Amino acid sequence: MTQEELFKNLISHTKEYGFIFPSSEIYDGLSAVYDYGQMGSELKNNIKRYWWDSMVKLNQNIVGIDSCIFMHPKIWKASGHVDAFNDPLIDNKDSKKRYRADVLLEDYIAKIEAKIDKEVAKGRKKFADNFDEAQFRATNPNVLREQKKVDEVREKMAKALNDNDLAALKQLIVDCEIVDPISGTRNWTDVRQFNLMFSTQLGNISDETGTLYLRPETAQGIFVNFLNVQKSGRMKIPFGIAQIGKAFRNEIVARQFIFRMREFEQMEMQFFVRPGEELEWFSHWKQKRLAWHLAMGLGEGRYRYHDHEKLAHYANAATDIEYNFPFGFKELEGIHSRTDFDLSRHQEFSGRKIQYFDPEQNISYVPYVVETSIGVDRTVLAVLSSAYCLEKLENGEERAVMKFHPALAPVKIAVLPLVKKEELISSAQKILDELKLDFNCQYEEKDTIGKRYRRQDAIGTPYCVTVDFETISDNKVTLRHRDTMEQERVSIAELHAIVEAKVSMKRLLEKI
Ligand code: ATP
Repeated sequence: MTQEELFKNLISHTKEYGFIFPSSEIYDGLSAVYDYGQMGSELKNNIKRYWWDSMVKLNQNIVGIDSCIFMHPKIWKASGHVDAFNDPLIDNKDSKKRYRADVLLEDYIAKIEAKIDKEVAKGRKKFADNFDEAQFRATNPNVLREQKKVDEVREKMAKALNDNDLAALKQLIVDCEIVDPISGTRNWTDVRQFNLMFSTQLGNISDETGTLYLRPETAQGIFVNFLNVQKSGRMKIPFGIAQIGKAFRNEIVARQFIFRMREFEQMEMQFFVRPGEELEWFSHWKQKRLAWHLAMGLGEGRYRYHDHEKLAHYANAATDIEYNFPFGFKELEGIHSRTDFDLSRHQEFSGRKIQYFDPEQNISYVPYVVETSIGVDRTVLAVLSSAYCLEKLENGEERAVMKFHPALAPVKIAVLPLVKKEELISSAQKILDELKLDFNCQYEEKDTIGKRYRRQDAIGTPYCVTVDFETISDNKVTLRHRDTMEQERVSIAELHAIVEAKVSMKRLLEKI
């Protein structure tokens, strides 16, 4: 099965089993907006809890807040979002569809790269064991010609984007002879800048001063509360403020399921440090954040750092943690050393002094900031795509199983009476009543036990407990393990401890 087919299957699996639904589906959906169902919201909450605990519980110098989505409009002037939070946009006059100019070019490059990969695959087949890929790429004339095209387009695009030269960007699209995938024509408008913030209006003000923005990131809520938290919490630098919350971006190209949405959630932590110490903290957080990802067990080879060569004017180091999604390596988290840019800008725009008095150095300064910023939904997608397996069983059947880390699994344990008989039901209910105080459980008595196991596999429940007639006399149940499908007889009294040992959030937190 190709990655594309697997991804399609995953999307329908997540819908069928209550993880993710297209928003407003009975009205044909709303593009790039998704709702989390009964399983998806449990999974998402577990991921958020894992992140929150890793920040706030494990670090005595990090505290969490919950600031509002609406903020004073001047904040977005100060942060630079009103003037510079733009994407270059281009319309096709025939299809009336809108595209991101840089994405059209990226797609063009991806097509050429696919051609190169095909050429390499041909070479591998032809030369078999003697194939040396590096040498082939460096000498094959077809590969060299295509690679030259890629390099040229990349370079021109980077220059045009950097110089904010929209005419050059349009010219590049024309020169590459890019056609609209829908109309098939090259009838393009000029490239324009498009601000990604959604705006709305305060009820009691009728003019422009009442314009409010839905926040495009949660970080600004942290910066503007810096003094409040530092003073009320008597925080000493270095310290961090963490927050989880919704963010909104009017993305032009929204695709790849929950990877790029118009309403999404972020988990951000701003770490305030002494000027001059930021690069040390930057590498600290770079390493810590990767460890956080690796602990979930999605696979070491699936992550890579992408250090930014071109930095925003206020940053002095930046890296992305990229994850190998079913559609390739893409940004999952950003780690940025943002100097004193944000706090200084708020100091300037608000007219308030935003500084920290350092008792050890006996001076006041605007702290520097290292931020870690990760999308909840992209993490959910990473977890879902790594967990999803289709397995052929010995009896020829296939099972779909979500191999979540037990601490992240939406349901921890399913309690199942073998058959629908009163004494089994009441024994199972008793077990459920005890376990449900600590764990998210499901109780099911309908269908054969095999079918019930399959349903639990499909939602990733690590344990199933089956109550049978022997249970009544020996106080033991059959415990089935999701991944191995092994079954063992355990006493009811041991159940809680066995489950706890595997599903506790501790199993993740102790690894980082
Ligand atoms: P991209 O380059 O993919 O647009 P970005 O660099 O604009 O992302 P940041 O502004 O650094 O993203 O936001 C931090 C994190 O928020 C990202 O790493 C990503 O996980 C998440 N994120 C950003 N935009 C979206 C979106 N439209 N949908 C879902 N998650 C998002």
